[in-house]
Amino acid sequence: MKKLLQEVILERPLLGDGAMGTQLMIAGLAQGNCGEAWNLSHPEKVLAIQRRYAEAGSECIITNTFGGSRIMLNRHSNADHVAEINKAGVAIARQAFGDREGYVLGDIGPFGGLMVPFGEFTEAQVQSAFEEQAAALVEGGADAIIIETQTSLEELLIGINAAKAAGAKCVIGSMAYDVTLDGSTFRTMMGVDPERAAEFMEEHGANIVALNCGTGMEMERARMAVERYKSATGLPVMVQPNAGKPRLENMKVVYDESPEQMVKGLLPLLQSGVNIVGACCGSTPDHIRAFRPVIDEFIRSGGIQSNGAQA
Ligand SMILES: [Zn+2]
Repeated sequence: MKKLLQEVILERPLLGDGAMGTQLMIAGLAQGNCGEAWNLSHPEKVLAIQRRYAEAGSECIITNTFGGSRIMLNRHSNADHVAEINKAGVAIARQAFGDREGYVLGDIGPFGGLMVPFGEFTEAQVQSAFEEQAAALVEGGADAIIIETQTSLEELLIGINAAKAAGAKCVIGSMAYDVTLDGSTFRTMMGVDPERAAEFMEEHGANIVALNCGTGMEMERARMAVERYKSATGLPVMVQPNAGKPRLENMKVVYDESPEQMVKGLLPLLQSGVNIVGACCGSTPDHIRAFRPVIDEFIRSGGIQSNGAQA
């Protein structure tokens, strides 16, 4: 039987995938359009991106369902297709692995607003949107659910509970940190630091503590976050840093970190005990391909034992 994701990562670190949003833009998705709808309208384009990640060596692929909650899809008048879009997202990611046994991580991104009293959405609305999305991802056969790019513990908790209620085999909570102006530390937009996030996730039954995206959170900062997570929890850790800082060039957002630059930070990250490493915005299949041999060599050299894996 296939091992659970949270078990296999205690034996060796796994390689995640890279960006989806920026890759969809390259494939022709117009800024502001609904990328998740492509799971139904252009599945071959989504598959082509994920296949490139699988071919580059990814062992975990995140579904193209970041904005696949009812609240997000409603902005594009796609709220009638929540279940189909999410199930198709899982099927496409699974297909990308071909005959290989990979892990499909069903993606739940932020619902994209604020809850009362700060915003217009009630907690019950967000809960029902996440529960509906999580149920579709689990029914579609996802190996895990990742609640990602989170900045508030309140929303994260709704996501964790929704994933658990849906019967997810593995629940990953992934926070987006920003480096503070003086550069001394990092926390989420809502003021959550990694230690607090890790304790909170462990307390509420997540299986893997993660970070993705954020501002200024490059490979070295991700390594620091792994250490801070590990100081606060015994749970495995996943990181997906961006390919550098976004900047505007001819009205387009570009990311500057090349695969060669990014891969320089990978060995220290592995040595810090990270359990899954992928990349976020601006990264490409070339970034993931550059990661593969470093992880392979790390495993061959027995690095994982000196990491205190609990397998
Ligand atoms: Zn990102």
